Order: sequence, then C-alpha cells, then structure tokens
Amino acid sequence: MLAFAPMAEAKLTKKEQDDLHVRLSEERDHLEAQLASIVEESFAASQSDISGDVGLDDESADAGTATFEREKDLSIENNVRDLLRKIDGALKRMDENTYGLCVRCGRPIEKARLKALPYAELCIKDAQAAQSRR
Ligand SMILES: [Zn+2]
Repeated sequence: MLAFAPMAEAKLTKKEQDDLHVRLSEERDHLEAQLASIVEESFAASQSDISGDVGLDDESADAGTATFEREKDLSIENNVRDLLRKIDGALKRMDENTYGLCVRCGRPIEKARLKALPYAELCIKDAQAAQSRR
C-alpha cells in the first residue's frame, strides 16, 4: 500500500521540518518588524493630520494623498497580519505534530509546495478548489 504512495506525499523528515521552522521563524520576525514600522508610520501620519499640518493652498490634494497613503498602508498591514496568522498557525501545527497535513482533507501536503510556501495549510488540490470557489 505505502509503496504505491507518490513520493510527493511522503511526510517531511525531522530535518526538513526543522529547516522550515527556522524559515518560518525568520519570516515571522521580519513581518513583525515590518508591521511595527507600518503602524508607527500611520500613527505619525494621523498625528500630523490632527495638528493641521497641511498647506492652505493645496489642502484638498494633500488630504487626498494622505488618505490614499493610509489606505495603501492599511492593505499592506492587512496582508502582513494575514501572513503572520498563517505563519503562527504553521508553527502551532509543528508543535502539535500536525504540520504538513492539509487542514481540509488531512492528507500530507506536497513537499515541494511546503518548501515553496512553508505556511501552506491546504494541499494543492484543496487550494485549487478553494480558489475556484472564490
Ligand atoms: Zn487537502
């Protein structure tokens, strides 16, 4: 039975999982630093708005730009938070020894996929199914 299982479905070795754990932890640190600087910047931007630090001549143009910048920051911030959530989930699954298993069907996630996307929580098939449903 096992002999017929495709190689791609083989479970990660301890070494492979340890490597991914290091990558996830590093990525996590990186994202947290990024998030901190985004939050800091948008706080600084909102402070300068409150103090009325906008030129009289082009007030509306500046306000529009500021809003646009903040919305851009917000969408980056949401992406970063989303990624952090996924990474936290992956690290948690490593602790619980369920890492590398598809959260939907429970089958092992393809190794190549995990190496490209260490925080993947769905196998390729379920990830594709989830996308086509969108
Ligand atoms: Zn699956």
